[in-house]
Amino acid sequence: MTENPQHFNLITDFEEIIARPNFIERVVIQKGEKVEGVLRDLIGYYLFKEEVKCGISSCGTKHQKGYIASLNDGNEIIIGHNCGKRYFGVSFDEKTTQFEHLKNNANQYVQIKEMFEKLPTLKENFERILNNSGKMTFLQIKLAIKDFRENALDYWMRRKIDQDVSSSGLIYIDVFKSKEEIAAEVAMKKKNILDTKSVLMGNVVNYDVIANWHNAEKLKDYFDRLYREIKNPNQLQGEAIKALAKKLRQHDQNLRELEEFCKNGNRLFTPENLIQLAVLFTKPNEQKIIEKYANKFA
Ligand SMILES: [Zn+2]
Repeated sequence: MTENPQHFNLITDFEEIIARPNFIERVVIQKGEKVEGVLRDLIGYYLFKEEVKCGISSCGTKHQKGYIASLNDGNEIIIGHNCGKRYFGVSFDEKTTQFEHLKNNANQYVQIKEMFEKLPTLKENFERILNNSGKMTFLQIKLAIKDFRENALDYWMRRKIDQDVSSSGLIYIDVFKSKEEIAAEVAMKKKNILDTKSVLMGNVVNYDVIANWHNAEKLKDYFDRLYREIKNPNQLQGEAIKALAKKLRQHDQNLRELEEFCKNGNRLFTPENLIQLAVLFTKPNEQKIIEKYANKFA
C-alpha cells in the first residue's frame, strides 16, 4: 500500500475516506477522558472542495483540509488542521513536515483533476475559438497571411507595402508641400526645409497580426499539446503532475490571447480595411489589383 506514499496519503474525495474499512465518522470521547489518549497517529492528508466535519465529537467543526488519524481502538477518523495541531502537538509538526510535499502537491493535483474532468468542455471551447471567432477560421487566417506575404501581389507591390505601411498598419505618404507651406516655414526661419511632408493616409487595423502570427501558432501548439497531456492525475507521477501544473498556469491567459488573434485576424481581412492599401499606388492597374484582392474577403 505504501509503494507510492503520495497516492496512498493524499485524498481528494470524501467517498474514498468513507470507503476505508476502519473509518468512523465520529468518535465520542467520554467525560474526563483525554482526546490524546484516544488518538494514535496521523496516517493521511485530505483536501476537499466541500467542507466535512471533524471526527472528534466535541469539535465537529467543518474543514476543507486536515488529516486522517488512527485511534487506539483501530478505527480511523478525520480531524481538521487545528485539531491536529492541538492534540498531536510536537509530533503533529513532525508529521506536517512529512506531509508538506503532499500539501504542496494537493492544489496541483486538484487543479489537474478539475481540468481532466472539464477536458471535453475545454476542447469544445478551443475548437469554437479556432473556428467560430469570426467569418474566417484560424486556418483560413493562416492561409490568408501566407498568401498576402507570398502570392497575392507581385514583388514590387509587396515591397512598396512593406516599406510604407508601419508595423501597426499606419500608411504615411510623402506629398509635396504647397508654396505657401514652404514660405511659412521660411518665415519661421526653420532650418533644412524639405519640399515634401509625410501625411497619414490610412490605418489598416490589426495589421500587426501578420508580423505576429508565429505567436498565434505557438499558442495553438500549446493547447494541442496540453490537451493531449492532461490525464487523470491518479495516473500521473509526482514529477509529471508538477510539470503539468506549471503549464496549466498559462492556460487562461493563452486562451484569451489565442481568441484575440482569431478576432483580430478577422478584423484585418475585410475589404474595407485592405482597400486602404490602394492609396500607396498611383497606377490604375495596381489599384485594381488591390481592389480585387481586398474584395476576395467580401
Ligand atoms: Zn476538530
